[in-house]
Amino acid sequence: MSEVTFQNTLSRKAEPIVPTKGNVVGMYCCGPTVYAQAHIGNFRTFLNQDIMRRVLQTAGFKVLHVRNLTDVDDKTIARSIEEGKPLKAFTEHWTEVFQKDCERFNMLPPMVEPKATEHIEEQIAMIEQLIERGYAYASDDGSVYFRVSSFDEYGKLSRIKERQLLTDTPADEEQGPVDSDEYTRDSAADFVMWKSRKPTDGDVFWDSPWGQGRPGWHLECSAMAMKYLGNNLDIHSGGVDLTFPHHENEIAQSECSCGHQKQFFKYWIHAAHLMVDGAKMSKSLNNFYTVDDIEAKGYAPVVLRYALTSGHYRQTINFTDDSLVAAQSALVKLRKFSDDILAAAGLKRSAVLKAIAKGKHAKDDWGVFADAWTKLSHDMNVPAALGAIFTAIKAKPTGPDAAVAFHRIIFALGYDLEQVVIEKPKVDAPEEVKAIAEKRWQAKQEKDWTAADALRDQLAAAGWKALDRKDGYDLEQL
Ligand code: AMP
Ligand code: ZN
Repeated sequence: MSEVTFQNTLSRKAEPIVPTKGNVVGMYCCGPTVYAQAHIGNFRTFLNQDIMRRVLQTAGFKVLHVRNLTDVDDKTIARSIEEGKPLKAFTEHWTEVFQKDCERFNMLPPMVEPKATEHIEEQIAMIEQLIERGYAYASDDGSVYFRVSSFDEYGKLSRIKERQLLTDTPADEEQGPVDSDEYTRDSAADFVMWKSRKPTDGDVFWDSPWGQGRPGWHLECSAMAMKYLGNNLDIHSGGVDLTFPHHENEIAQSECSCGHQKQFFKYWIHAAHLMVDGAKMSKSLNNFYTVDDIEAKGYAPVVLRYALTSGHYRQTINFTDDSLVAAQSALVKLRKFSDDILAAAGLKRSAVLKAIAKGKHAKDDWGVFADAWTKLSHDMNVPAALGAIFTAIKAKPTGPDAAVAFHRIIFALGYDLEQVVIEKPKVDAPEEVKAIAEKRWQAKQEKDWTAADALRDQLAAAGWKALDRKDGYDLEQL
């Protein structure tokens, strides 16, 4: 096992990951809200989490990865009603789209992908514990709130002061004076855990000891993380926007519900945002792209994966077309090196990667790739690791050990080199283009150079070029 460090938002320090139990790292990632296709900003966070997991696995840890699906909230309810679909069918569709996108990006599937709607009982039980211990109260309308002033350590993650809490209105539907709910809570800082049924909820509600309603968003992650990782409360992560209030509230609910018996996760890791023209990419600003949009521009998902992960995960990056062009050319270099070193060592990429994924080759024999691994295992410095890889491959290392070490780094980065297109894809020419090319070939045979040149220009105007051989020609797209 080699050391892996990450910057912990809770301590504001880079810390080595030491799991609660043995060599198993519990890792909870806040998952998508399934009401539309996730945009590539969301995927910047999910892809960085995938690399976190791969780095831990490469270091020799076993990772217990849980990522939830938020399948009930204001947005899922409103959209499903708009489309006249039952909530379950509506969110299942978007869940499938999300999972397919994850596969296209070569992301490792989590061991558990729990849904909020399938854990209502656990969420109600957590609220009951909190009421019993004096941390929560039900209001007259049947909503239940967490009393922020009852938890001394509130704010330890985001360092938010109560004064700030009362004056800043967070952009969050469940905390702060955002709607008429503010009059039913004791303090504007308190956040809702159970939302009493509203007419806008349609037929989406569950029975509870406080009447009909539905759980709040923060609660689902607390309840599901405790259920699946209660004994492995190691890493919790999400985009930086989740630090407050989502993660702060998760800590408050979870630590108070168990009477402070457990620390709700030791390491909190937050990924910076993907920006577009200086603004956060988001659905609400309508400045987003999906993986489909990028594929339509002609880039394979691996190119997008590279563009989204080659910046440091704690620094914001601006999304541009240039970053895709740079990613494509960097990947071609990696693919060519992989092809060459494997061929010389008589190895097959798929077999090498399969063995790596299974944890064979787990020796710390990094050779010329030692620097790349050091960079990757210290707060996941992907740009520095990539720099070290390109320096190492310039010297054209060979041999099976170097081949395995290189592919262990590629596994950790999750770049599927099979997806990298080295040559222009061969496309069959349309019939009319073939006819012009045929006439040009005949003209050349008859030594009618004027006609042949005119036909060559016609081919070019149609976007094609004839590459002559001795006995014929090939057609290539310009
Ligand atoms: P949501 O589906 O809105 O709950 O978001 C899913 C994940 O995407 C969360 O971890 C967010 O923090 C993250 N996220 C949202 N927008 C961006 C962005 N522009 N860049 C990076 N991560 C983002
Ligand atoms: Zn969460």
